[in-house]
Amino acid sequence: MSASLNGVSLTSVRERDQKDPLANFKRRFALPEGVLYLDGNSLGAQPSTVKQAVDDTLNQWRDELIKGWNQGWFDAPERLGNLLAPVIGAQSGEVCVTDNITLNIFKLLGYILGQCQDDRRAVLSEGGNFPTDGYIAQGFCRVSGTEHRFLPEGANLAEHLEGVAVVVLSQVNYRTGKLRDMAETTKLVHAHGAEVIWDLAHSAGALPIDLNGSGARYAVGCTYKYLNGGPGAPAFLYVHRDYQDGGWQPLSGWHGHTSPFAFDANYTPAGDISRFRTGTHSALIYSALEASLTMWAEVDMQALREKSLAMSDLFRECLSDLFDSHGIKDITPAASERGSQVSLIDKQNGYAIVQALIARGVIGDYREPGLMRFGFTPLYLSFEDVWQAAKHFREVVESGEYQDAQFHVRGAVT
Ligand SMILES: *Cc1c(COP(=O)(O)O)cnc(C)c1O
Repeated sequence: MSASLNGVSLTSVRERDQKDPLANFKRRFALPEGVLYLDGNSLGAQPSTVKQAVDDTLNQWRDELIKGWNQGWFDAPERLGNLLAPVIGAQSGEVCVTDNITLNIFKLLGYILGQCQDDRRAVLSEGGNFPTDGYIAQGFCRVSGTEHRFLPEGANLAEHLEGVAVVVLSQVNYRTGKLRDMAETTKLVHAHGAEVIWDLAHSAGALPIDLNGSGARYAVGCTYKYLNGGPGAPAFLYVHRDYQDGGWQPLSGWHGHTSPFAFDANYTPAGDISRFRTGTHSALIYSALEASLTMWAEVDMQALREKSLAMSDLFRECLSDLFDSHGIKDITPAASERGSQVSLIDKQNGYAIVQALIARGVIGDYREPGLMRFGFTPLYLSFEDVWQAAKHFREVVESGEYQDAQFHVRGAVT
């Protein structure tokens, strides 16, 4: 008889791998031996074409020196934006790959508020969102003299839009994995005369997104999580084509100028998405990201979504009896309201369980208080990987292995 976890047999998951339309993508990643990587929601794995791409750019720098800027380096923010656009339901010219999410939110807040005529001025941040989104909104409000508010976690958005000019919302919550209905929420916010900046950090590359079809005007997101751009890969910024001539964004740097190499004393914003650039970017990391996005252009996002949901359900199915008997709370949302992660709470032992798993080569992550997060990346995980990870989880918890003192020491990055 084949090994089985809570009634899910190894044979059955191997059969699922046989039928998986995305199975061939796994070979296109450089994955370390002996690692089951469930942290692609924090830092995506490395596509195998990346190394050569970065090496080519290093050679280009060596051989071509400054000429490289005219050989694709300078235009990378727009070129990569156009590569990414179909993955998030946008069109060419609507996406710029630049800076990081934090800075891009600042730029969009200034851009939107700069056009705001009436006296509704407040910026609304979402309680329970990834903190930088709120921090930068607070920083923006301090320098601009704007009122800042928090939407209490779980509150009804419609009741908190009075006097609000712009709200920053994550499509998928980084902790719980909860997915918002983008079309419905965008409509609601617009009906109240406000704008919404969507943060796609945990949805871009995790599920199909239809920015245009949802009526979204503004969005940001990162490329180093599900999109595999590499550590420090630049973020992206989306502005719907009808909203691109609205004036200045506040981080008015020379790359966002209408003619950067005219070296005018005065700033005039570029007439298109390029106005959201600031200053010089890294050609090296853009080449890593471009190699990844070239692969993403081949991905069937519906198949990705189906596999993502099937994998997160499989992981929970293999463990549900264990959760009940060990006081672990499964707060993963239902399939239709879920990103691509499983979220488990164990306030007492969560940290140590994650550390003990990492010691076994099963990499998930931990967020205070008590949250164990496991990201499911359909391009480089198989159903068998998910089953094996669940097996390790079960062994770590049932044996009490996590109680070892070494698993209670805290590192700087968790
Ligand atoms: C990961 C993440 C960020 C990261 O912001 P950076 O400025 O790119 O470091 C921001 N917001 C959310 C919701 C995230 O999940």
